[in-house]
Amino acid sequence: MATIKACVIGWPVAHSLSPKLHGFWLARYGIEGTYGAWPVQPDVLAEAMRRLHTEGYAGCNLTLPHKELVLPMLASMDKAAEAIGAANTIVVRQGGALHGMNTDAYGFMENIRPALSQTGKAVVLGAGGAARAAIWALAQAGFGEIVIVNRTQEKAQAMAKYFGAECRAEAWDARHTALAGADLLANATNLGLAGGEPLDIDLAALPPGALVTDMVYAPLETKLLADAKARGLRTVDGLGMLIHQAVPAFEAWFGVRPQVTGEERAWLVA
Ligand code: NAP
Repeated sequence: MATIKACVIGWPVAHSLSPKLHGFWLARYGIEGTYGAWPVQPDVLAEAMRRLHTEGYAGCNLTLPHKELVLPMLASMDKAAEAIGAANTIVVRQGGALHGMNTDAYGFMENIRPALSQTGKAVVLGAGGAARAAIWALAQAGFGEIVIVNRTQEKAQAMAKYFGAECRAEAWDARHTALAGADLLANATNLGLAGGEPLDIDLAALPPGALVTDMVYAPLETKLLADAKARGLRTVDGLGMLIHQAVPAFEAWFGVRPQVTGEERAWLVA
C-alpha cells in the first residue's frame, strides 16, 4: 500500500507540535504514513492547496494565518467550518476537490467535557479564530449565556451578533467583573504565552464551582491556571485541545480513529 501523506501548513510552522503528535499515532497504529511541516506564506496558499493533490497528499492541517484564507479554495465544508468561518483540517477528495473541516471546536469541547459540570454562563476572553471555535462549541453544548470579552470591543460585538441570542460582548476593562456567576472561563487570547505579555485578570468574582481553561499551552501551566488553582478552582490546560482536535483529522486521512490515552501528553511534553 502507498504511503499516506499529510502535513501542517502555516507561516510560521516550525513551532507546531502536530508532526510529533501524528507521528506518535502513526507509529502506535503501524500505519505507513508521514506527517510533515510545510511553511507556506499567505500569498501562495492557493498554489500550496493545488499541490496537495498533485503531490499525493491525503490532506493537511492549517494553522495561522491560513484557517480563514483557505475558505474560497474549498469545494465543501463540514458544519463546524461553515458556522465558525475557518477550517483547520483539509481533506483532498477524488479529483483534487478540497473538503474543509473545523476540528478546533471539537478539540476545545472534548478537552473540557470531563471537567464540565454546569452549562449556564461562560466567559470567553478573545475574539480571534480560536475564540470563534470555542464560542460555537459552547453554544452547541447548550450554554445559556456566553460573554465575549475582547481588547478590541467591536470584534467582540460583531462576534456576539453573529452567534446570536446567548452571546453578548463586554469591554476588556470589565473582564474582572464579567466573571460573576460564570461556570466557565476560557482564555482564547495570546496573553500568557511564554515570552509574551501576561494575562492580567482578577479571578475573585468567579464562583467556587467554576472551571478555568486556557488555550495557551506553552507554558502548560499558565499564570491564569496557577491563579485559578490557588483559589481552589478546577482547571484544564490547552494541550488537551491540541490533542483532541487532531483525532478527527487523523481519522479522515489515515483511516483509524486514535484513542486519546494520556500517552500522547507524556510524549509531547517529554
Ligand atoms: P488570533 O485570531 O490572532 O486572536 C488573538 C486574540 O488575542 C484576539 O482576540 C486579540 O485581541 C487577543 N490579544 C492579542 N494580544 C492581546 C493583548 N496584548 N491584550 C489583549 N488581547 C490581546 O489568534 P487565535 O488563532 O484566536 O489564537 C489565540 C490563542 O489560542 C493563541 O495563543 C493560540 O496559540 C491558541 N490556540 C490554541 C489551540 C489549542 O489547540 N490549544 C488552538 C487554537 C489556538 P484583539 O482582537 O484586540 O487583537
